[in-house]
Amino acid sequence: MPSTSTKHRLILLGSGFAAMSVLRTIDPKLFDITVISPRNHFLFTPLLPSTTVGTVEFRSIIEPIRAAYPFAAFHQANCTSIDLTARSIACESAIDKEQFSLPFDSLVLAVGTINNTFGVAGVEQYALYLKEVADARAIRQRIIDCFERASEPGIPDSEKHRLLHFVVVGGGPTGVEFAAEMHDFVIRDLHKLYPALRSFIRITILEARAQILSTFDQVLGAYTVRHFHRQQIEVLTGSVVINIDADRITLKNGTEIPFGMVVWATGTGPTPLIKSLNAQKDYASRLIIDEFLRLKEHRNIYALGDCSVIESQNLPATAQVAEQQGKYLGAALTARTLGKPVQPFRYRHYGMLAYIGSERALADLSQVKGRGYSTYLFWRSAYLTRLVSFKNKILVLFDWMKTAVFGRDISRF
Ligand code: FAD
Ligand code: MG
Repeated sequence: MPSTSTKHRLILLGSGFAAMSVLRTIDPKLFDITVISPRNHFLFTPLLPSTTVGTVEFRSIIEPIRAAYPFAAFHQANCTSIDLTARSIACESAIDKEQFSLPFDSLVLAVGTINNTFGVAGVEQYALYLKEVADARAIRQRIIDCFERASEPGIPDSEKHRLLHFVVVGGGPTGVEFAAEMHDFVIRDLHKLYPALRSFIRITILEARAQILSTFDQVLGAYTVRHFHRQQIEVLTGSVVINIDADRITLKNGTEIPFGMVVWATGTGPTPLIKSLNAQKDYASRLIIDEFLRLKEHRNIYALGDCSVIESQNLPATAQVAEQQGKYLGAALTARTLGKPVQPFRYRHYGMLAYIGSERALADLSQVKGRGYSTYLFWRSAYLTRLVSFKNKILVLFDWMKTAVFGRDISRF
């Protein structure tokens, strides 16, 4: 059925920070809005590492698009190609692979990025990622599997050492936060539940560069290294992974590292859609946009968040940037439709936070370089206020209390 609406047809690709923030500020009465994404929910990624060990439950940090934005139409699908001149997109259903196409007047590209293997053999087969809820769930199951395998009768000590070696490749915030959560899980819960395995458990971070947390202030990076040293989380910098097998990692210097689980958190690359798009991109294959977040050659096509880069500003690929761009664009689209003037996008940096385990966190703010327990309380309250819905806030608060009182659950299903 052709749409009988005469309203401006706006299509948003993606259900992440950027696209969802557009919906928060746009005037829905002025547009005929459709959201296309293979993921039918928004995911609050800053707390995703906490879900890998059950500090927070998966459903507490996601919000279905239909529930949050009932005024927008939603299709659970991947956009596979865009006809920039005919103004239509081709999509493939994420449910049954059916193809369909949709016309648009304006299009918003907010498709984010995909995990980057950097061409290292074995990553796809043997490593786990940490980007979506399904990844966090796979990690949680693998951890329990490793402990149960190591508890079986007749397992030699060398095999216990291997099974209980948890390796993180990538010393950025995601890798560091996962290692921290894993450590909390080990100390608070697994030591009690698997007392015979205590001495076999090891956590290692492999970082190719000379330091971890390179985007944070150096003082905070150094503090984290000392903190991890005390917690017996091993940090191996200058470690370039060249191959992963079913049970071992090989480094460029020839070292072989046996593991039970490896989490690959090294960085991201362009999605197939952005790769295939015939438009101006930078060295990292991000779409180049102007200060109004538009593609240069197509004034009715906008790109924002991790899949794009503003030519004159080199902003980091963070939720903070994506969220501010989304809020800006929602208001700008409304203003344009009403014939009001639109100012260029300006980013405001509020600082960066990271959890480093044992109730310690980092805060890299412009005025303050915070660390330790009080920063941890600040980290928790900041994330609680930034969670999207009231329901999510209550659920996360509840999860934290539950974990503090009863510990983390190791049931596997
Ligand atoms: P995303 O949020 O990745 O959303 C992309 C969306 O596009 C997804 O819904 C995806 O399903 C959809 N999509 C993909 N391809 C298609 C297609 N072909 N058609 C339609 N839809 C498509 N940032 C911070 O600022 N602070 C943090 O503490 C922080 N912690 C993080 C922790 C983890 C574990 C991870 C993975 C990231 C973290 N980030 C953090 C980074 C932050 O999540 C990203 O910068 C942010 O999500 C970018 O928003 P986005 O909308 O551009 O992309
Ligand atoms: Mg998005």
